[in-house]
Amino acid sequence: MNALQLTCPLNGRPGKVVKLITLKALLTPQALTRLAPLDTYYFCSDPVCPVVYYSASHSYREGDLKVPVFQKDSNSNVPVCYCFAYSRRDLAGEGTHKDAKHIPEVIRGHIRANRCGCEVNNPQGSCCLGNVIQTIDAIPTSAPDHPTTTC
Ligand SMILES: [Zn+2]
Repeated sequence: MNALQLTCPLNGRPGKVVKLITLKALLTPQALTRLAPLDTYYFCSDPVCPVVYYSASHSYREGDLKVPVFQKDSNSNVPVCYCFAYSRRDLAGEGTHKDAKHIPEVIRGHIRANRCGCEVNNPQGSCCLGNVIQTIDAIPTSAPDHPTTTC
């Protein structure tokens, strides 16, 4: 067993280490009462695994966080960029931001200006830009004229 890389107790996959401040910022008050500050916490990014954070002693699930988790919740209202509140819908150009194509550029500007607070806003505890670009890339550029019908 490698003690340096703890795997998720549910799906057995390696997670990413997150800072304690991320959990302190995003756990519900009730979940926070179980925090073990000497533990190293990991983030499980598997979309089908309900565990969000885990340590050697326990784990937290989606309901233990004050915000929905981008990786685990496919709802269009879920933030992709938590700091500046851009949801999947916004990135698809269907929200209040009509200039969806420019969103990554806008976020980069905020990062350069040191306005980004991913470690306390984003459940993954790190920059959202990769997820933003991935989400935009996954949006079909041209929708088919007629939806394909299956019978
Ligand atoms: Zn997991």
